Amino acid sequence: MAYFKIKYFRILLIIILIILLTSEIIVGVSLYIYILVFLFTSIILFIGTYFIQANFYFNSICTLFEDKSIAITFDDGPDPNVTPQILEVLKKYNAKATFFVIGNMLDNNIELLQEIITQGHKLGNHSFTHSYYFDFFSTKKVKAEIEKTNIIIEQITGEKSIYFRPPFGLTNPNIARAIKKNKMISIGWSIRSLDTVKDEQTVLKRLSKVKAGDIILFHDTKINTPKILDKFLRLCSDKGIQTTFFN
Ligand SMILES: [Zn+2]
Repeated sequence: MAYFKIKYFRILLIIILIILLTSEIIVGVSLYIYILVFLFTSIILFIGTYFIQANFYFNSICTLFEDKSIAITFDDGPDPNVTPQILEVLKKYNAKATFFVIGNMLDNNIELLQEIITQGHKLGNHSFTHSYYFDFFSTKKVKAEIEKTNIIIEQITGEKSIYFRPPFGLTNPNIARAIKKNKMISIGWSIRSLDTVKDEQTVLKRLSKVKAGDIILFHDTKINTPKILDKFLRLCSDKGIQTTFFN
């Protein structure tokens, strides 16, 4: 996948356009070929944007080099109702997790944020607003979102956050530049639990394929997630899988 990068794709596209233009002048090119090139470009950009694992615009850690551990992550919190339940379940199994928090939810959940750290978990940055329009934000705006959340995390916990997970897991060139400017490390996942959209049985079925090295994506905003997490951690314990942080 090392060659599936925006910079190589740009070069490829320029070559294709030069060939098309030259052919157009010499023999003429059918509309059909232009449509094919357009479709090809759209598909590549779609994959690059929607699959964080493709590392198209920037690199993200999506798996660990581990032979017996996984990393558990929670997005979109902290949530005053669900996050405390998640912390209880993690404590029960002596498991560790990283919480990717949304900046504008932190002022009202200061104690909860401190509790996450006290219990030995880590915090990551999941933007300030988690806006639906995040992927249309300028580099400057994305950079400000990351900075604002980093400042609040550091003010409350005294810990510097270096991990960032893009809202909705979508990537683009502006997010790439903002991550680089803020010297953040992007974290993806290898198993998306789909706990926000699927029922418990379906989620547990997806999670049952867990293996060492996986990074699991949960949300500490869904009422079903603590129960699912409990069953999942029991499964991990049966399989001899431990929990760790990113490496
Ligand atoms: Zn999110």
